[in-house]
Amino acid sequence: MFSERLKKLTPYVPGEQPRDRKYVKLNTNENPYSPSPKIREFLETCEIESLRLYPDPLATELRERIAEKYGVKKENVFAGNGSDEVLSFAFYAFFDNSNGNLLFPEFTYSFYPVYCDFYAIQYQKIPLRDDFSVDAEAYIGTESCGIIFPNPNAPTGICLSIEEIIRILENYPKDRAVIIDEAYIDFGGESAVRLINEYPNLLVIRTFSKSMSLAGLRLGFAIGDNGLIDALFTVKDSFNSYPLDMFAQKIGEIAIADEAYYSSVTKKIVETREELCSELGKAGWNFLSSKANFVFAGKKGIPGEDIYLGLRDRGILVRHFNIGKIKDFVRITVGTKDEMSRLIEEMKKL
Ligand SMILES: *Cc1c(COP(=O)(O)O)cnc(C)c1O
Repeated sequence: MFSERLKKLTPYVPGEQPRDRKYVKLNTNENPYSPSPKIREFLETCEIESLRLYPDPLATELRERIAEKYGVKKENVFAGNGSDEVLSFAFYAFFDNSNGNLLFPEFTYSFYPVYCDFYAIQYQKIPLRDDFSVDAEAYIGTESCGIIFPNPNAPTGICLSIEEIIRILENYPKDRAVIIDEAYIDFGGESAVRLINEYPNLLVIRTFSKSMSLAGLRLGFAIGDNGLIDALFTVKDSFNSYPLDMFAQKIGEIAIADEAYYSSVTKKIVETREELCSELGKAGWNFLSSKANFVFAGKKGIPGEDIYLGLRDRGILVRHFNIGKIKDFVRITVGTKDEMSRLIEEMKKL
């Protein structure tokens, strides 16, 4: 009854969403602030009649709004059920092993190897530099069928400069995809979206889950040359014609238009991140320079696992990865100022 395919799967394990007690939840990079208040107005006036019909399979208006915001055409935009789904379609569409392995960083978003196993894509992990940054040179110098990395990278929070990204694109074969997963770019990095017209092999992937505070809605998108976007539609339409329900499409349109609200929320999070780093420094903790809504931190003499468990006992959840040179760090999501004060207080007691 169970397929051989199934027996080989090792699923991704997301950060825990506990139900046993109330935690200060700093483990999945959710936004501590509310989504745009304009969404409430929509929900209060929406007619249940609209649910009778299938949603637009092309998410046309949502893609138009996204295209307007980023100065591209709707033909350059694909939208999916969370950026995880968009990533999955992209792995299916662009990577096989005809020209070598897929390359991604040794420490990165741990869904990438899961998609590789799912689609039987061979991959090679490229070590980070000693300072934990992504090593652009190593990607150029290795024969491969494609490249993917988050920028800023997760769980380090370190951002690669746009010049380094251009260097990769300039020196990489134009017939192989380079995917930049910009889940955290709104928190301080420079986006590669403006490069898509120059590099038809560049796909930029974004999510509504982090900076737009809509992780529960499941909405993500990709921006790239229309050849790449058409390929994503081909995969989608071979799998599910309607991955985006009518609420997700409509709420996405409202959120993407409310720049004033979201830029103030993002500004607050960036300020809080910088305050958190300054407090961590004063308390003798090490941390990496972050351009995301999380900080990767550790303290000499305390194993990462003990930090994680100690904070958990004290009602604070952070994320710990028990692997290689990152095992003595924990990834802390930037929450509200109050949550960060409580965190620092408990960290000092460890
Ligand atoms: C959170 C995250 C995603 C997934 O986002 P969803 O849109 O919620 O599926 C993708 N990539 C990275 C690097 C992330 O951290």
